[in-house]
This record gives sequence, structure tokens and C-alpha cells, in this order.
Amino acid sequence: MDVLKWRLLPLLPLLASLLFYYIKNPLKPSQSECSLLAHNHFWISSKRIVTPKGLISGAVEVKGGNIILILEEDWQGNFKTGQVIDYGDAVVMPGLIDVHVHLDDPGREEWEGFPSGTRAAAAGGLTTLVDMPLNSFPSTVSEETFELKIKAADKRIHVDVGFWGGLVPENAFNRSALEGLLKAGVLGLKARVFALFSLFYFLNLLLREEHQSSFMCPSGINDFPMTNAVHIKEGLSVLAKYKRPLLVHAEIQHELEGILELDDSAVDPRYYSTYLKTRPASWEEAAIRELLTVTNGTRTGGRAEGAHLHIVHLSDARSSLELIKEAKRNGDSITVETCTHYLAFSAEEIQDGDTRFKCAPPIRDSANKETLWEALMGGHIDLLSSDHSPSVPELKRLDDGNFLKAWGGISSLQFVLPVTWTYGRKYGITLEQLASWWSEKPAKLAGLDLKGAIAIGNHADIVVWEPEVEFVLNDTHPVYIKHPVSVLMAHKHCWCLGSSARDYPNLCDRSVDQSRHFQAIDEGFWFLLLIGCIVQWKMYVVKCLPAKTEAEKIEEIMLET
Ligand SMILES: [Zn+2]
Repeated sequence: MDVLKWRLLPLLPLLASLLFYYIKNPLKPSQSECSLLAHNHFWISSKRIVTPKGLISGAVEVKGGNIILILEEDWQGNFKTGQVIDYGDAVVMPGLIDVHVHLDDPGREEWEGFPSGTRAAAAGGLTTLVDMPLNSFPSTVSEETFELKIKAADKRIHVDVGFWGGLVPENAFNRSALEGLLKAGVLGLKARVFALFSLFYFLNLLLREEHQSSFMCPSGINDFPMTNAVHIKEGLSVLAKYKRPLLVHAEIQHELEGILELDDSAVDPRYYSTYLKTRPASWEEAAIRELLTVTNGTRTGGRAEGAHLHIVHLSDARSSLELIKEAKRNGDSITVETCTHYLAFSAEEIQDGDTRFKCAPPIRDSANKETLWEALMGGHIDLLSSDHSPSVPELKRLDDGNFLKAWGGISSLQFVLPVTWTYGRKYGITLEQLASWWSEKPAKLAGLDLKGAIAIGNHADIVVWEPEVEFVLNDTHPVYIKHPVSVLMAHKHCWCLGSSARDYPNLCDRSVDQSRHFQAIDEGFWFLLLIGCIVQWKMYVVKCLPAKTEAEKIEEIMLET
């Protein structure tokens, strides 16, 4: 026995050094895990980390895809083990969460699809998307159709994806169908609203069948019918039990003048002003007024206490916003979002025939844009979203520039962070505000308790970016959305998005064909989890350079030839 002991003794230093090696270099995760960083246990350090307590200089410890420790200033003294990735003064921020995205999958993958949409998201610093129930086919309005969504997304996504279900007249009075959808895992419901007994709505249906297809249910998407206040009330009472939100597209067609104007053959459908007239701000106001007749049920002690109403893509910063403010003051559980295109552009700068800018509700005048910013800065608009709503390029009808017939949807997903930051700098936005509008509040709306902030216990969904670095959005810039027909492209000769200082990390290829965790969170709520998605990103300041004059362009061509 003694002999054996003496023979094994020389092996001890070898065992000790092996042990030391594994402590210093933890086992790398398998290819199936999502992270750009090939370590299960590591630290991210930076002089600018955005936390709920404010901006700190320190380090975040990540293990198994979760944040397990956050240390400030003298963190090196407390550092014990793990790899350290020092990002210097780059901003380390919670990954963006976009609660309003149409990925059109299944059924219209040729418009976007999970692979390209989520790839664009990752490239843009978004680590979670919540997909809308409409524009895919079929719409997500039942357990069966939700099952199709899940199948379509499984193993085809590069960031986390959650889903909204649809509230439509067909299921609004069917409590068990709605409960089934919620139990199956949708994070809440989405509805489009029109006024109950709206004479004008029905008149329009009769009078304007042709135009109906272009601006109420564009391009044949008619399997997601609109609801009225009674349906909304029913929906809220079911949602109350599950403490989930109802998201509403608030526009009611209620004015006859607009419709009649379209009959005038002198009106040119290529004019942006024509389109603007077909969807006045009063439509948003009327819809919100209608909604507020039932949201009082969400107040403390109300019939729908626990439910929450969220108004998507607010464009009208005037009367509509005033109504929402009043409802909040009265204690209604209500929030509102606006989108980057309403904050970046105004009607005055939209060229006639440039249908890339068509969306609903429309982009309004510059004074309205200023008021939207004011409301956002003042906390009256709660959060931001992209409302990424692409289609095949043909449906945008850039060839004839017909605003009344073009698809109404803007494609912007990959660039929402640089656009918000760049335009927001004029208004003095802070990194903390950016994190609140794009991560914290969206996480709260969608009930994603472990997301939306760099905090201990949360998923390590992180974006690292450099606000001072610029890149140019030109033809050579990698664009991952399926069809680069975007309002941003519309301006590429006039404004630029800086230039990337370092190589763009190849997240997308790493992620292709990765298997995804698919697990239940909270009783029965299904969510596709991709824990610890770190997106490293270099960016961005949008600078508006003057458009080249025709003469300058000709001069350039002359020089080249
Ligand atoms: Zn939408």
C-alpha cells in the first residue's frame, strides 16, 4: 500500500494543474447554445453599464446564460474566477425587446420569415421579439393556429421570440377558446378596433369596396377581422384572470369626407397628402375614445382588474394622446407605444410616390413629430416598438407609387436602435431612457420578468455598442431583413449611419441550425427561450448629410467616365 502511495504522489501536481486549468478555462458551451462568447462562465466589464440603478462602471458576471453578480468600480478586487471580456467604455445595455413585429411566418415567409427577421434583430441589438398574430397565414387566433406558429419558429430563430394571440369577433365570446390560447402560451392578445354601430364604417364598406382593400385590410389580409368595444370588453375580462395585456390597433374609420374625397378623380394617389387625408388623426382619436368606454374596468376594483390595455403605434400626438393621459390619471391600466418611423420622419419630407413610407396610421406633420418626442421625454408615451411590417417589394408598388394601393407597412427592425439614438440625441435622450423604452417597459408589458434589465437573476440578454462610432448605411452595409425595401434605404443618399470601426460579429452564421431551448415559464406560458444571448454591436450615429444635387451627381458620373 505504501509503495502505491509513493508511486501516485508524483501525479498530484499534474492533477492540481489540470484542476487549475479548468477553473481558469471553464468548459466551452456546445454549439447549440447561443452566445457570441464561447464560455459558460464569464465577466463583462465596461465603464458604461446601464442598470436599473443608473449608469455604472464595473463588471457583470454571467453564468449559464444568467446574470449572477454585478460589481461596481473596484470590481477587480472581488473578481475570483472566469474569463473577463473588457469592453472599455463601450455601452453594455440590456438587449432590446420589440413587442410589435410581424414576421409573417408561417404562410407568408416570402415577406419575411423567422430566420431573416430574427437574424436582422440580432444584428440590430434586439434579443427578444414578440410576434404579432396577423400577416402570417393563418392568423394566430386559436390553439391550433398557435401550434402552427410554434412549429414554424422552432429551430429557425436567432433571438428569443414570444407571441401575441389574436382577439377577433369569432373568438371574443368564446371564453374557453381564449383561455385555451392563453394557456397554450401566448403572452397576451392583439385586436384591431372599429366603432360599434359605426354608420360610416358600414357605409364605407358599401361605397368603397375597391379602396377598402387598400387601406383597411390591405393586400388581401382579411383573415384578421376587426373588433368593437363589446369584443374588447369580453377580451379584457378573460385577460384579467391571466393578468395579460390586450394590444389594440386604434383607428376607426368614421368620417365620410375622407372617403368621398377619394372618389374625386382629380386626386392623385401618388401624392402623400392624398394618403394622409384618407387616415386623419381623428380616426385614432375616435378609436381611443371608443376604447376608453371599456378600459375603466381595468381600474382597481373594476370588472377587468388585472387586465391591461396597450395602444400600439400611436401616431397622433395631439387629441389621442390627451385622451390616454386622462385615462391614466383616472386609474385605467393603459399604456401606449409609438414607433421609430414616427419619431424620425415627417410628412413634409416624404416624396410623392415614395410608398416605402406608407404605414397605418400614417406619418404626420413635423409639428406632430415634435409633440411625440415631447410626450416620450415626458413619460406620457411608455415605450417604443418597430412595427416591423414588411411585404414582398411588388406590394409596395414603387413602380407606380400609388399610395392608396401600396402595402401599408414599414420595414425597419435592424435599425431601430441607431435611429432612436441618433434622432433622440437632439432631444437629449439618455442611455437609461433608451433602456427603459426599448427593454424595461417592453419586458413589463409582455410579462417577461427575467428580461429587460441588467440585474442579478435576469437572463444575460445584452447588447454591447459604441454610441460614438458611426457607420454608413449604403449598399455595402449588411442588411439582414429579407427585402431591403426600407424607409432608411429611401434616404441612403441623403443621410448616413456612421461607419463601423470594427468587424461585425458573425452572430448569424453561428446561430444557423442551432437547436433552441423550448421550455415552459410560469404555469403553462410557453416561450422560446434563448438564454444569454449577447449581441456585440458597434455603432452608430445617424447624420443627415445634404442630398447631392442633380448637378453634383452628373459631375461625379462625368469624373468617373
Ligand atoms: Zn403592426
